[in-house]
Amino acid sequence: MSTPLLPSNFIRNAIDEDLAAGRYSHVVTRFPPEPNGYLHFGHAKSILLNFGLAKAYGGRCHLRFDDTNPETESEEYARAIEEAVAWLGCDWGDHCYYASDFFETMYRCAVALIERGLAYVDSQTAEEIRARRGTLTEPGENSPYRDRSIAENLDLFARMRAGEFPDGAHVLRAKIDMAHPNINLRDPVIYRIRHLAHYRQGTRWCIYPTYTFAHPIEDAIEGVTHSICTLEFEDQRPFYEWLLEALADAGIFQRPLPRQIEFARLNLTYTVLSKRKLIELVERGLVSGWDDPRMPTLIGGRRRGYCPEGFRIFADRIGVAKADSWIDYEVFEEAQRDALNEIAVRRLAVLDPLELILTNFPADQIEWCAVPNHPQKPEWGTRNLPFTHRLFIERDDYHPNPPPGYKRLSPGGEVRLRYAYIIRCTGHEQDASGRITRVYAEYLPDSKSGTAGADRYKPKGAIHWLSAEHAVEAELRAYDRLFIFPIPGAADESGKERHFLDDFNPNSLVISRIFIEPELAAAPPETRVQLERHGYFITDRYDHAPGRPVLNRTVSLKASWSAKETP
Ligand code: ATP
Ligand code: MG
Repeated sequence: MSTPLLPSNFIRNAIDEDLAAGRYSHVVTRFPPEPNGYLHFGHAKSILLNFGLAKAYGGRCHLRFDDTNPETESEEYARAIEEAVAWLGCDWGDHCYYASDFFETMYRCAVALIERGLAYVDSQTAEEIRARRGTLTEPGENSPYRDRSIAENLDLFARMRAGEFPDGAHVLRAKIDMAHPNINLRDPVIYRIRHLAHYRQGTRWCIYPTYTFAHPIEDAIEGVTHSICTLEFEDQRPFYEWLLEALADAGIFQRPLPRQIEFARLNLTYTVLSKRKLIELVERGLVSGWDDPRMPTLIGGRRRGYCPEGFRIFADRIGVAKADSWIDYEVFEEAQRDALNEIAVRRLAVLDPLELILTNFPADQIEWCAVPNHPQKPEWGTRNLPFTHRLFIERDDYHPNPPPGYKRLSPGGEVRLRYAYIIRCTGHEQDASGRITRVYAEYLPDSKSGTAGADRYKPKGAIHWLSAEHAVEAELRAYDRLFIFPIPGAADESGKERHFLDDFNPNSLVISRIFIEPELAAAPPETRVQLERHGYFITDRYDHAPGRPVLNRTVSLKASWSAKETP
């Protein structure tokens, strides 16, 4: 049943087995974000995995808001999450769910557990509950309230819901085993009193289910077959199964029940993938917001110019593993380059201009040169660039005393101006400090690119250029790694833990003025380009306007970052 298109992994093997054994007849997955922050690159892995599996098995994937905690969730986050998932190219169709829409069902589930003697109201304080929980090596102790009668539990729980008690007065706990070796099964708390309005439910509720209780129920309500989550939930799986089995026995859910499968979360070097840490970057003002192009959030990555296809290639390349590991940021960038190469038009820009005068080209003349929009895609056509007497070239494409092997312009040397003529350098001017201010050259009139006989010249190199009169000044925002060490905050040699913000790279944003083609200056926001010989860029989603161009550097053409040693 599985398609051979995707590399095999242990999750697919598990699903294949389930289908072969007849445990399930179809596949339903879900992506279950809590709307308490913006999605990051780690979430992208989970999204592409869940939607990818659904697609591969001809099933469906739900978008589910796990919004059971009224304290931190908001509509703004929920909308941004929808936008980000759709931007990645994933389609949940009619299957968008909110856990909070099912609070009534969850309440009924809790009542069913009480009725079967599987849950009780505990009136200990949070501290008392913690103190009696035991440790990894010692069993816990029963609560003095553990043996309340079913009738008393039903009455208290109903009054909790009715708002008769203040926060913390009681909780509802599953009644399992206080001596269980897995601490998660030592009577976990499943409902809390919280007199707080919920962003969707308003003040309808003053008791809220815990995540561990709500999540399995939500999966069962939606008919999820494979509930795929990150490894930190592995220890919760026994409770997941205990709860759904109990509710199936009570006749609330039908078998087959959803199956939880864990995989390793994504860790990327030189960045942090945890909402808590990302919030800290935003709140301390170290970045301009969640959508700062340096942020590993989907809105940040989008603004920087990363493309959905690049995320897909990356997810396919790293695959899915059962053990935590760190993926080098380079692997992500290489996937983006491969994707952007296919979709970005080529444009010319000079980042650090040096004036070049063609002494034998008439000052009042313009010659239009056809320049391909993508060298491997002739169907994308060409545009015409003006070639004139006064040009800009890159400062480092000229060397007055070239080192051996230098293939670009130097005194007496020849080089091709891409898509135009070959030129021969006749000299330069410099200021008192020795800085080159202007280069002089002659163009060879019979050497125009693409004309008959132009290939009799064999210059060693080719450089790019822009007509100085026509070039448009633009703001360039170049980004570097957000952190200077691969694992931000990792312990140093002495074993001392450091704070991840100690490794923040203060030079991760460099703004400069550059020159670009007029055509690019007039492009709409979010236009992706490859600036030839430089890298991939995008016109800024918010700040770019025709007449006031702003470009973000997405990724350079080649890997350039050299890692510092770990401290
Ligand atoms: P964070 O740990 O950053 O706070 P979270 O797990 O609390 O993230 P949720 O909104 O609960 O955020 O996550 C939604 C889904 O995304 C969950 O299924 C979670 O397992 C998955 N997920 C979160 N972070 C990663 C990651 N780094 N790699 C892969 N999947 C992830
Ligand atoms: Mg979480």
